This record gives sequence, C-alpha cells and structure tokens, in this order.
Amino acid sequence: MSAMKRRQFLTGVAGMAASPLVVAGAASRSDAGSLRGGRSASGLAEPAFRPLPLGSVRPEGWLRRQLRLQADGLSGHLDEFWPDVGQSQWFGGKAEGWERAPYWLDGVIPLAWLLGDKALQAKVKRYVDYIVAHQRPDGWYAPYPLDASAKPYDLWAILLANKVLVQYHEATGDAAVLQAVLRNLKATLEALDRTPLFNWGKFRWFEGLIPVYYVYERTGDAWLLDLARKLYTQGFNYLEFYGGEDVTQPTPRRGLWRFDKHVVNTGMALKAYALSWRLTRREAERAFPTRMLEILDRYHGQVTGMFTGDESLAGKNPVQGTELCAVVEALYSLEHLISVTGDPAFADRLERIAFNALPATFAPDMWSHQYDQQVNQVQCTLNPDHMWTTNGPESNLYGLQPNYGCCTSNMHQGWPKFAAHLWMRAGEGIAATAYAPSSARFETQGANVHVTLDTDYPFRESLKVAVTVDKAVRFPLVLRVPAWAEGATLQIADGSKKRLKPGTFQPVEREWKGTSEIGLRFPMKPRTSRRYHGAIAVERGPLVYSLKLGEAWTRVNADKPHRELPHGDFEVRPTTPWNYALSLDEARPETSITFEDRPVGEKPFSPEGAGVVATVKGRRLPGWRLAHGWAAEVPPGRQSSREPMEELTLIPYGCTNIRVTEFPQLKE
Ligand SMILES: [Zn+2]
Repeated sequence: MSAMKRRQFLTGVAGMAASPLVVAGAASRSDAGSLRGGRSASGLAEPAFRPLPLGSVRPEGWLRRQLRLQADGLSGHLDEFWPDVGQSQWFGGKAEGWERAPYWLDGVIPLAWLLGDKALQAKVKRYVDYIVAHQRPDGWYAPYPLDASAKPYDLWAILLANKVLVQYHEATGDAAVLQAVLRNLKATLEALDRTPLFNWGKFRWFEGLIPVYYVYERTGDAWLLDLARKLYTQGFNYLEFYGGEDVTQPTPRRGLWRFDKHVVNTGMALKAYALSWRLTRREAERAFPTRMLEILDRYHGQVTGMFTGDESLAGKNPVQGTELCAVVEALYSLEHLISVTGDPAFADRLERIAFNALPATFAPDMWSHQYDQQVNQVQCTLNPDHMWTTNGPESNLYGLQPNYGCCTSNMHQGWPKFAAHLWMRAGEGIAATAYAPSSARFETQGANVHVTLDTDYPFRESLKVAVTVDKAVRFPLVLRVPAWAEGATLQIADGSKKRLKPGTFQPVEREWKGTSEIGLRFPMKPRTSRRYHGAIAVERGPLVYSLKLGEAWTRVNADKPHRELPHGDFEVRPTTPWNYALSLDEARPETSITFEDRPVGEKPFSPEGAGVVATVKGRRLPGWRLAHGWAAEVPPGRQSSREPMEELTLIPYGCTNIRVTEFPQLKE
C-alpha cells in the first residue's frame, strides 16, 4: 500500500476509531479487482466503502413491506397505462423519448432485484433487451437523432440511460448490456468534441462519471478516463458558483427559473466533486460536498435535511416547496458521498431525508405523490394563488403527475437505492452505513458471510445484528454510530457492554465463527431546533415530528387522461385545527414531550401506522390562519394565547400527509 493510498483511506473514514490493524487489513484489499471481480483500476482513487453488488442486500421487516407497497403501487405498474413510459421511444413507441423511461428503469431495476420479484425482473428484462437490441451500429440508442450534429441533442438522457444499464449489468451480469454501454460511451466521447455539453447535460455532467467508472473498473480501458475528464471539463462549475453570493439568495415568488439554482440539479450535484475527486485527487473537491451542504442548510435548509426548491432554491420558509425529484436525487448523492468519503455525517443525513422527506411526499399506498412537499403543509389544493417560485398550481396535490411528469418517472429510485446502500464493503469486511431491517451477503477470504439486522429502527432505539459465517474468518464489522446517539452502546453476546462515540464508524474486528449476535442501542432523546422566524421543531433520533391532523381527501382531475383509480389525483384538507403554539422547555424537551411506541403499521408511513407517537401541550393561536391557500408565515417570537391548553399528538413527519412541523413557542 502506498503512503498516498493509506492517507486517503485514513482521511476517508472520518471519525473511525480505527486500530492500525483494521486499516491495514482494509486498505490492502483496496483495489477494485479484489472486490468486484474486475481488473484493477489504479487510475481512480479508491472510495472508503464500496457498495455491494445489486441484489446482495435484502430488505426485511417494515422495509420489505414498504418496497412491496411500492412495487404493488405506481412503480410496478406505471408502464401499463402511462404513455411516457409504456410507449416511450426507448421501447419502440411514439411518446416521450428522453428521460422518462430511463428514469423509471433507474428505480424499478433495484426494486425488482431487492425484492427478488421475478415478474418485475422479467418485465425489466424485456425493456432493457429492447434498448440493447435497437442500439444502432454507431453506438447510439434509438431515441438519439440521426442528424444530431444539425439538431443538437441534450446528452442528459444518454448519461442517465448508461447509469441505468450498468445497474442492470450489476444485477444480472448480462455481458451484452455492458458491451452496449461501452459502445455508447465511445460514441459519446466523440460526440462531445462536435457538440459540447449544454443545458441539462452540462449541469448533470457528473452523472456520466458513474457508468464511466463502472466500465473502467471492469475493462481498464484508458480512454474511459479521457471521457471522464471531458465531462468534468465541459460540465458546469459548481465549485465556483458556491463560492459566490448568488446561491445564497432565495428565488422570489414567480421568480426566474434557472439551471444553476434548480433544486433537482442541486440534489444531484451534492455528489459531483466526490466523484470527480476519484479522477483528479484534488482534496478541495473531496471536501466540497460538506461545504455545499452547509451553504444549502444555512440559506435554504429545512428540518428534514432537505432544502427548498419550487423549482429553484427558495429559502428557509417552511411553506416553500421541495420537489420529489430533488429528494430522491439527494438520497442517491448521499449514498455516493458515504461510499467515496466514508464520512458518517452523510449517513446521518441520508437517514434523516429517507425517513422523513421521502415517505411524507407519497400517499401511504404509494399510488400517488406530490411534486412539492412543504414542512408546514396544512392543505394540498389546486391553488392558482400558490406561492411557489416557478411551479404551477397543482404542485402539492397527491396525484399521478402533479405539475409535471418528471417526479412520476424519477421517484422510483428513492427507497430501493436507499435499501441497496444500507451495507457496504469495508476492505475485507462490511460496514452498516445506514440502518433499517435488512440482510446482506458477501464473500471474504473464501468464506461466505451473512449479516442480518433485526430492528424496527427508526421507530425503536435497539438493533440486533447477527453475523453468520460458513467457516472461521477474520474481518471488520464496521458500525455507524449516529451523531445524535449520546450514550450509544454495543454488546457482543460473549463480551461486556461498550460505549460508542457518536458520529463515528466503529469497527468490530475479530475472528467470526458460526453465528454471533451484537446488540446496539442508540438512545433517542428528544431534541429541538430553532428555525425560520424562530419557530421550533421537534426531533428524536433520525425522525422529525409533526402535528397529526385529521384529513379529508377529495378526488380531482377525474376527467383527465390516465387518472383512473387507483392512480387518481387528490386534494387533502385538514379536518382538525392546526394553528397551535407549543409549550416546550427547549433546554430539557424530554420534560415536555412524552413518546410512546406503537406497532409499526402495515403501511409504515401512514398516520395510523405510525410506529411511535408523541404527546405535547399547546394552545391555539387564532391569528395564525390560512392565507392564499397555505398556512401564513409562522408568527415570529414567543406567542401568548388565551385559548385553553390542549394535549396534542405528534407523529413522525414521514407518516403525515398534511402537517405542521415548525411551531411558534408559547410565552409561558
Ligand atoms: Zn420532478
């Protein structure tokens, strides 16, 4: 191991209380070949952790139910009635021929392989086979125009399609698919000289690095790194943009739509410079994602870990919207950031977004979704007087394609990719990078290893990890300790209880034999944070809590095409009051809020299925009303009220469909 590599590994696993033995063992296997069966690819810096091949991680418990709901909902059926996927030009039809069909496959491929759903896999195979069979001799896929030099084609959809196809290759090993990608990347390399990246392709250049690196690590073809450099050089420079003032300014209501402040581009770009660091090895690039998130938190951040954008960055007001595409893209970016940097802070944020912003924006049955969600979202109605920057009046409806159909096709990747990245390879061993009920298989030093995580986390604070090996073998099991988990403990069946340091990766290095059980406990103390207008929000563990509201769902747009049930459009209105100020002791919130465990529901993210509920006291503020169809801005400062004190129920943000999350605080 070179000194360079060793240093990168050490800085990579930030906060890991690593013994030298663990690090040496991990880094000695840091070439791609030994992990993924391909050739060594020394032209790229090695990531801290490597995702497991698709299909190695399986969802269990509530997570399996959630993915099953998704496959039985819109994700598993969209192609059957929505022309932009079912009759896509990618599949020989006449409808949309750009990003929508690849977007759908991007989520449905991991969904089918995580669930081991043979019918869904067979459906995906038919579509992928069609794309590969109709690739032209010049390497382009069918929708690419024949006269592309006369009529420039925005390469974004091609970058996306290759990213999708390498996922399929990873799941199936289908060599024809890898060859198709290789041929297309060659064509792309030449096309970029004729027509440099522009529009979406220019702002999403780094997505192209994912298939390029994937193929490079399997073939070692040096021209692939030329292609990577070309994408990097032609792409938009976010480093420079985030060095300026412009990005800190919220886009005004009915403001200007822009690529550089576009919320989905922003979610995607979080990973840009971690990916490019593997190519350039410039430390400033590797450090940039943390800086970028700090800027976004400061000027546009929401308590869910997301930032607003409806559809350009929109400031901190909790009634601004956050687009679903941005949520799923931010999650995918964070999965890359954990892998490349090994920084546990990215994993904390991954869970925060996955358990809050992601589920909240779907109806519990996952047949309908919103374009924009709001942290304070007391009703979702067709509202021409909306306050979005550039989105339309339908944006917070639950429906088939509210506002625009990008989220309809792109939403599918959220849960499956999260599940696929719960476990990652850490040298000879394995790391639990994020927590949800799951299992994973991998091979190390000739031994087959099966790890399982039995838990109702994030609704519970105890987790049970079991490691089973078919022969005695030594490797590190690396466990993430969330930064909020003060007093976290680890207990191995035959050992004593050990305290864990929050905000670290904790390696457990030993010779494993038979089955070993490890108990983890991450104490979840309630916390509060001060937000927009001094409003207060309640968190506990990775979950954010919101006021539970009664809901009335009204079907709308029934006459519009493709809105037959169960994939209709709906407005949601509150049937119970929402305008409360909370009575909270900020310094000791555990004295003002009580939490009670409930069984995790069949639909884990539904108001009635909430696995934990909280009780807190508050009074109504009659002056805090609906304005223009949304909850008027949170009244600033401490508020007094003569209304009676009431006992209020809070449930996890992800379980709500309408909600208040940022509350004024009572002056008493
Ligand atoms: Zn979208």
